[in-house]
Amino acid sequence: MKKPSDYNKNVKIDLHIHSTASDGTLSPLEILNLAQSINLGAISITDHDTIDGTKEALAIGIPPSINFLTGVEISAVPPPPFSFPGSFHILGYAINVDDSVLNQTLVKLQEARKNRNPRIIERLNRMGYEITLNEIRKDAGECQLGRPHIAKQMVKKGFVQSVSKAFDKYLAKGQPAYVDKYRIDCDRAIEVILNAGGIPVLAHPVLLDIKNDDVLETLIARLKEMGLKGIEAYYPDHTPDLIVRYTEIANRHGLLITGGTDFHGSIKPEIIMGSGRGNFSVPYELYENMVKSQNIVHKKHESCNTGIK
Ligand code: AMP
Ligand code: ZN
Ligand code: FE
Ligand code: FE
Repeated sequence: MKKPSDYNKNVKIDLHIHSTASDGTLSPLEILNLAQSINLGAISITDHDTIDGTKEALAIGIPPSINFLTGVEISAVPPPPFSFPGSFHILGYAINVDDSVLNQTLVKLQEARKNRNPRIIERLNRMGYEITLNEIRKDAGECQLGRPHIAKQMVKKGFVQSVSKAFDKYLAKGQPAYVDKYRIDCDRAIEVILNAGGIPVLAHPVLLDIKNDDVLETLIARLKEMGLKGIEAYYPDHTPDLIVRYTEIANRHGLLITGGTDFHGSIKPEIIMGSGRGNFSVPYELYENMVKSQNIVHKKHESCNTGIK
């Protein structure tokens, strides 16, 4: 890790980035180059249910000016009796990418994603939209296909005006082309990340869409019992008030706070790496706190492939 004194207070980090290994549009190499050109102090590639992008970045070699954490974003099922309409995602940081249980678990989740896409297409076809998985694959290349790729194709074919309209009218939960996918239970997601030596973090709490503050706090207490280590308090959709609120919750429960933009490249063009919609930033200090917490756990695993130098 670079010494804190190597950085001034204005150095930003971005610990939530998607690559072409999932539904981002920049390759790991392009992400490293961009992060370097905008002087980010630390990044993590956190693809949906895959660590192929993170592995590729390690294989390419991390530029010396950037601190890199391995990462993943796992879609999980909330613990009963919690039920809410939004996206429940667990981020895993500084995971050992060679961990066999982690790799096996992710393969299973990727299979589930593959099975889901044709079913979404089938629904759209039944509604009269002529769209095929082959044409989507041709445009997307060898990445892991998901709803954003289907949405992009719908825009290209003139069925809808924008990716977000495609979600709102067809692809989002509750809409006519939505198909649920197999997800793992969150206690298992947390366990797999912990066993791979990683830091499990609750992603973008605002997107859970939990209206009641007490319910959110009870959920977080429950997740902490399961081994959760952090909350993604800094996220472009979090207002300054929300950032404060999530930070307070994290402090009350002895959890780390993390942050990132959820950069996806041109599929989500309004979000810029490192600065979200323009005025967003995540302090470098959060990265340092994560690494500090990890060094204690990590002494035994020095050879692990976690990205921590
Ligand atoms: P999937 O992996 O197929 O479940 O799709 C998840 C991706 O869809 C994530 O990258 C989200 O950013 C994106 N997404 C989810 N809901 C929406 C929405 N309402 N508008 C635009 N993108 C969305
Ligand atoms: Zn995504
Ligand atoms: Fe997410
Ligand atoms: Fe994400």
